[in-house]
Amino acid sequence: MAQAQLQIDLRALAANWQALDAKTSVETAATVKANGYGLGAGRVARALAEAGARRFFVAVAEEGEAVRAALGPDLPIHVYGGHMAGDADVIRDAGLIPMLNSVEQLTRHFEALPGHPFGIQLDTGMNRLGMEPGEWASVAEIALAQGPVLIMSHLACADEPDHAMNAQQLKTFRELTDGAGVPRSLSATGGVLLGRDYHFDLTRPGIGLYGGMPFAEARPVVRLSIPVIQTRIVQAGESVGYGNSFVAECDMRVATIAAGYADGIQRALSGKATLWAGDTPCPLLGRVSMDLLTIDVSRVDGPVEALDLLGPHQGVDALANVIGTIGYEVLTGLGQRYKRVYSE
Ligand SMILES: *Cc1c(COP(=O)(O)O)cnc(C)c1O
Repeated sequence: MAQAQLQIDLRALAANWQALDAKTSVETAATVKANGYGLGAGRVARALAEAGARRFFVAVAEEGEAVRAALGPDLPIHVYGGHMAGDADVIRDAGLIPMLNSVEQLTRHFEALPGHPFGIQLDTGMNRLGMEPGEWASVAEIALAQGPVLIMSHLACADEPDHAMNAQQLKTFRELTDGAGVPRSLSATGGVLLGRDYHFDLTRPGIGLYGGMPFAEARPVVRLSIPVIQTRIVQAGESVGYGNSFVAECDMRVATIAAGYADGIQRALSGKATLWAGDTPCPLLGRVSMDLLTIDVSRVDGPVEALDLLGPHQGVDALANVIGTIGYEVLTGLGQRYKRVYSE
C-alpha cells in the first residue's frame, strides 16, 4: 500500500456541527465549498444533513451541482459567488440559490431565470463580495419585491473578537436590512462565537465543522497517514534529498514516505515539519519532493509502517503554524492522490 490515507471522521464532523448549532438558537447551515474544505463535498454534505443541517453553501455553481447530486432534490444549496454569466442552466437544473452580488447579477438572474429563488449578498465593509450600500439603496425595492429567500453579508475580522470592525459591520448590516422582512445571515464560524447579536436567522459555518480555528473546541476530523516505502541508515556526513540541504551530524535511520508537494504538503515545510510515528515525533529532513518526504525515524524502535502528518498530535492549525499559514489552507490543499477513508 503506497497510497497515503486521509482518514475523515464523519462522527467528529457531525459533532462539530451540533456543537456550533448548540451555540445559537437559530438555524445552522453548513458551508461545503472547495470540495467540502478538501474532504469530499458529497460525503461531507450527506453526513452533515444526517446530523441535522438543512441548508448548504458553496462558492460557485459547479460545486453546487456536485452537492446536489449527493443530497438529492430537497435541501436548499446557496452559491456565494451568485449568478455568473453562463450559470443559468446549472442553477436551474441543480436547483441552486445564487446569492446575487451586484446589480449586474440581479439583472442577469431576473432575465435568465424569472421566478427562480435567489438571495442577496451585501458588502458591509469587507469590500470583497456583495452590493455596496449605495447600490443596494438603488435596487432594494425592486429586489425585495421579487422575494429574496435570504440576505447575507460576511465579517472580515470575526476571528478577532475584540476587533472594532465586527461591531461596525454589524451596525451597517442592521442599517441595510432592518425591516426588510427577509431572513438574514451574517456569521460564519467566527461570527457564531461572537454571540447572539451576530446570529440573526441563520449561521453558515465552514472551518469549525472540519476541526479548524477559530472553533477551539472542535473535535479533530482528519488524520493523514503516509506509508513508508523504504528505510535506510544515513551515516554522519552524508546528505539527504535535493540540494543536499540536510547533512547528517551522526548516523541516523531515515524513512522515505509516499507523499509530497503534489499532495498539498507545501515545500515551505522543508526542514521544518514534524511527523509522528504513534507518539514519537519524527523530524522532516531536507526538502519536500513532489511525491516523497524523508523523515528521521532514529527514535522509533522496530519497524515503521506509516507516519502521521495530521492526527492526534498535530492538527491542521498546528501544521499551518509551522509555515505561518492557516488551517483553512492546509485542509483545502489536501491533494487528490490520497485515499479518502470515511469512518461513519
Ligand atoms: C467560506 C465562507 C463561509 C464559511 O466561513 P468559515 O470561516 O469557514 O466558517 C461563510 N460565508 C462566506 C461568504 C464564505 O466565503
